[in-house]
Amino acid sequence: MGSVQIVTTILAAAITAVAVWLAVRAVMKMTAVIRLGQPAPERFGDKGARTKKMLVETAGHTRMLKWSVVGAAHWFVMVGFIVLSLLVLEAYFEVVSPGGGLPIIGHWTIFGLATEWIGILGLAGILVLMAIRLRNRPTRPGGRSRFTGSTMWQGYFVEWVVLLVLIFGFIIRGFKVATDHFEYPVWATPLSHAVGAALPAWTAGVSVAAVIKIAISMTWLIVISLNVTMGVAWHRFLAFPNIFFKRDPEKPAGSGLGPLRPMTSEGKPLDFEEADPEKDQFGVAQVEQFSWKGLLDFSTCTECGRCQSQCPAWNTGKPLSPKLLVLSLRDHAYAKAPYLLAGGGKDLTGEEKATQEQLAGVDVLAMAEADRPLIGTAEEGGVIDPDVLWSCTTCGACVEQCPVDIEHVDHIVDMRRYQVLIESSFPSEAGVMLRNLENKGNPWGAPQNTREDWTKGLGFEVPRVGEVDDFEYLFWVGCAGAFEDRAKKTTRAVATLLNEAGVSFAILGEGETCSGDPARRIGNEFVFQMLAQQNVETLNEAFDGREKSKRKIVATCPHCFNTLGNEYGQLGGEFEVVHHTQLLAHLVSAGKLTPVQPVDGGVTYHDPCYLGRHNRIFAAPREVLGDSIQGELTEMPRNSERSFCCGAGGARMWMEEKIGKRINVDRVEEAMSTGAKTIAVGCPFCSTMLNDGVNGKGAGEQVEVIDVASVLLRSVKPEAPAGEPEVAPAAS
Ligand code: SF4
Ligand code: SF4
Repeated sequence: MGSVQIVTTILAAAITAVAVWLAVRAVMKMTAVIRLGQPAPERFGDKGARTKKMLVETAGHTRMLKWSVVGAAHWFVMVGFIVLSLLVLEAYFEVVSPGGGLPIIGHWTIFGLATEWIGILGLAGILVLMAIRLRNRPTRPGGRSRFTGSTMWQGYFVEWVVLLVLIFGFIIRGFKVATDHFEYPVWATPLSHAVGAALPAWTAGVSVAAVIKIAISMTWLIVISLNVTMGVAWHRFLAFPNIFFKRDPEKPAGSGLGPLRPMTSEGKPLDFEEADPEKDQFGVAQVEQFSWKGLLDFSTCTECGRCQSQCPAWNTGKPLSPKLLVLSLRDHAYAKAPYLLAGGGKDLTGEEKATQEQLAGVDVLAMAEADRPLIGTAEEGGVIDPDVLWSCTTCGACVEQCPVDIEHVDHIVDMRRYQVLIESSFPSEAGVMLRNLENKGNPWGAPQNTREDWTKGLGFEVPRVGEVDDFEYLFWVGCAGAFEDRAKKTTRAVATLLNEAGVSFAILGEGETCSGDPARRIGNEFVFQMLAQQNVETLNEAFDGREKSKRKIVATCPHCFNTLGNEYGQLGGEFEVVHHTQLLAHLVSAGKLTPVQPVDGGVTYHDPCYLGRHNRIFAAPREVLGDSIQGELTEMPRNSERSFCCGAGGARMWMEEKIGKRINVDRVEEAMSTGAKTIAVGCPFCSTMLNDGVNGKGAGEQVEVIDVASVLLRSVKPEAPAGEPEVAPAAS
């Protein structure tokens, strides 16, 4: 060993020792913070499916590749990081000896070939990612981007480290070539040989370049260890467990889509008949009341801003960004952690759990952080502003986009649950809806005995469950479908088409109440449970004696469809629920309904969030429309998985939209930009929102918003009106 190698070896050992010590400390700190969360025993089930999903999503980059260029570039960088870690290890042999290398595999040409090309593609990948970050920097001319609010120096730092580590990898190899210490042939390692041709035959160069590469890598480790909230770096490790522990490993996309999680206390679902707010946790009022998976979610956020770029609230000037919400919760959790780890925290009656002695050594900043309300305005020092919390439409665009499977909607609803159930704090205008649900069983407060009024004048009998036993489908009408004028047209169109196709169906009539979706999504789990239990009982009775595959329900409202199909199982109601567009598509393809007259003027389709993103039904409504117009649909730029919300979900239908541009107007402008004369929808709430948007723009004469079923009816029975409802919705 020469003098240069003695120096490089000492330097490499010293910086590595410091980095490893800090990294161990950081991992212990992070683990301690995540363990502060509540239990989530359900996350440990089905380890085989979880492992498979984790491997598919990480190795296959299935989520990232939705953004093809970024996804491909990131894939090479990720593979480069994993494989080229071996080359960082090899650098430790090179600081000791210029001819050093990894034992055994370091002599294989295949290893040289693989690392060479992964290095080259990794270089290309990181340059692409750097260019994308620069092009989308928030300070660029033209305003906000998906990186607005991200900690930009951290992103730049990580990217430069990757770039320099890759470059120094080739410089080391170049010096080895130049000094005849390189074993791999030119055909396998062309770039290394090209670099070697440009470098002097300086033997010590190998060890010097190797120690620089180690210093860069260890500086990275030191910086991230001193910044445990640096998700842009830590996600390289945390993404794996975060994906492994996702809510539902079987789901093709975001596992936080579809049903909401039941309310839990100490990891167990809450039974409202016995629950006591002084003993049981009702939603989330403190950051440590999220489950440990919630805290892992917050720690894993890469600050990529994909969620933010798709969020309808953020895109229309509301203060909500799912990314910033996650970052606020993360920063708060880590800032409050010293207080919690010392034994601090409030019990469910609001009393401090720790003694004075326990808190004596806690940093004042952590104590101050602990005093901040989780939900509160800037003046109150709140972590999340109420306007942020209530701007969410639960559309799921954030969950769908997140490459590391963060479950934003669950966290938002958990915070809403505490605000509604314990604080009674929510936008006051939604109070009327909740009262109507409790007292009248529907959000409009319409009399229950008018639920069947839509059947009047149809020209055929609509049977009720009980009057007939051998129905194939129970037609779940929904509150909008029974009481709201436009939605009644859809209900009548569906009934007419089912009758035309010879499908045997029956309705519950006055036996139906609201599915409970708006109550659940605003956070009123108590009212949801009340309505849902009643409906489950009614439906179980209606299907008494039938196996699950014969307990078929067709629903026109995607919110009912989602609640009945995905959430009633939590309460003992197992049904086969289809959306009316699915059933209609089946009836057309089976030849039971025949579109005869093409609907002209052009049609575009708006995907309802709870049908599309939350339940992945994209094809059926498009098939029905394609058959009806006997041609191609005109798609909006944001469609299918990336469809833009109408603004009504998450009980936003019942709240005023006071901040920013109206979401429905934004969506209507997009729909009208296609030039289509018909905007087809598959949801009564979307219908209301888009109709309001069209009328607000004074375009009611040029553009029509109607349900897919009405479009089909016009084509199947051109002479039949979709059925004007005779009765206006009753006011509460
Ligand atoms: S669910 Fe939709 S509205 Fe809510 S934060 Fe996510 S993207 Fe935004
Ligand atoms: S998409 Fe996921 S990882 Fe990216 S900023 Fe949003 S929450 Fe964080």
